[in-house]
Amino acid sequence: MEKKPKPGTLCVQAGWRPKKGEPRILPIYQSTTFKYETSEQMAKLFDLEEAGYFYTRLQNPTNDAVASKIAALEGGVGAMLTSSGQAAAFYSIFNICSAGDHVVSASAIYGGTFNLFSVTLKKLGIEVTFIDQDSSDEEILKAFRPNTKALFGETIANPAGSVLDIERMARIAHSQGVPLIVDNTFATPVNCRPFEWGADIVIHSTTKYMDGHATSVGGVVVDSGNFDWDAQAEKFPGLTTPDDSYHGLTYTKSFGRAAYHIKATVQLMRDLGSIQAPENAFLLNLGLETLHLRMPCHCTNAQAVAEFLQKDSRVAWVHYCGLPGDKYYALAQKYLPNGGSGVLTFGLKGGRDLSIRFMDSLKLAAIVTHVADARTSVLHPASHTHRQLSDEQLVAAGVTPDLIRFSVGIEDLEDILSDISQALDAATK
Ligand code: PLP
Repeated sequence: MEKKPKPGTLCVQAGWRPKKGEPRILPIYQSTTFKYETSEQMAKLFDLEEAGYFYTRLQNPTNDAVASKIAALEGGVGAMLTSSGQAAAFYSIFNICSAGDHVVSASAIYGGTFNLFSVTLKKLGIEVTFIDQDSSDEEILKAFRPNTKALFGETIANPAGSVLDIERMARIAHSQGVPLIVDNTFATPVNCRPFEWGADIVIHSTTKYMDGHATSVGGVVVDSGNFDWDAQAEKFPGLTTPDDSYHGLTYTKSFGRAAYHIKATVQLMRDLGSIQAPENAFLLNLGLETLHLRMPCHCTNAQAVAEFLQKDSRVAWVHYCGLPGDKYYALAQKYLPNGGSGVLTFGLKGGRDLSIRFMDSLKLAAIVTHVADARTSVLHPASHTHRQLSDEQLVAAGVTPDLIRFSVGIEDLEDILSDISQALDAATK
């Protein structure tokens, strides 16, 4: 049997396999549509009797090559690129939930996902109960109801930095007959592959480390192929009963282990759009080619920044799962032995005002909404990404008023540290 390539090889080579005379580099198929010889050929595609491209809102060869690279990296059976990470989170849930259904989610998640879950899904009749992911199995199980369809969490929460006990969460989800959906954006498959710990669906904001250069907003939904939808047929009728919009085809019968991501593509993408632009997929692919080189550098730099801040008497606290003594150190050792991410949080003695003065004094690190790309950047979540949240919701999301989110880039470490040092001096003088 052919040896399975290592992640670094998959980053560079997976997805696009050119045949004789084809371009070595993945082309951008900048075309909305695809040509056929006969009307019948096209009709078969519309009936899902044959696989093939017909309209880029559903599928495009550039996107598919990149999606299959990410599926290979995560160890899944297939994936679907979306126009943003938000769309990926929405589709991952909406593919198996409809009005009247319920989801259990960790409360320590990205603010945008929190809004999506608590405001927009509610308008669609899908209710989400938020749980403390560190509470006991018994506490978490109390949140489940007969109509619960999924458990959701982030491998490393943005910005709280909490590390999800994926194996335990998968066990809890499966005991209730539902899949575990994990947002693996911060860890990336280079540092953690949630399917290996029992997760069923993985999503990413590819906007972050996967692109890595802050060029393109995008997302992906990856299917492990491991969840047995038919074993819970009454819970997931969308996958296990006939779809009238495809002449009564049943996804699990027709596509087996690929049912979840094929339904997401041929039904949700068809009806709701939000496909990633092929040009963005091309840029994402360029980013992926160096993901295995960039992630270790982000993690080494972040570890050094965390240790540097911890030693400074003007710093009140530092959260980074790579610091011995951090609340999530033990979980990080289990799930992220090669490093977590480049993102850490800290607060200064002097609270919110000093935190803001410090940020305004940084020269190399830029104040941007973005996080997790090559350039060091900084943000004050309570004033920016999480400003819609109430004080109570802020606490549940792990965001204190003084919290600075520092996204350590891959610049020279010495320059990053001296920027922090001069900004601390300027803010406290
Ligand atoms: N998930 C996480 C962990 C994020 O950090 C973000 C954005 O910051 C998202 C999802 C949403 O992704 P996007 O901004 O690509 O829509």
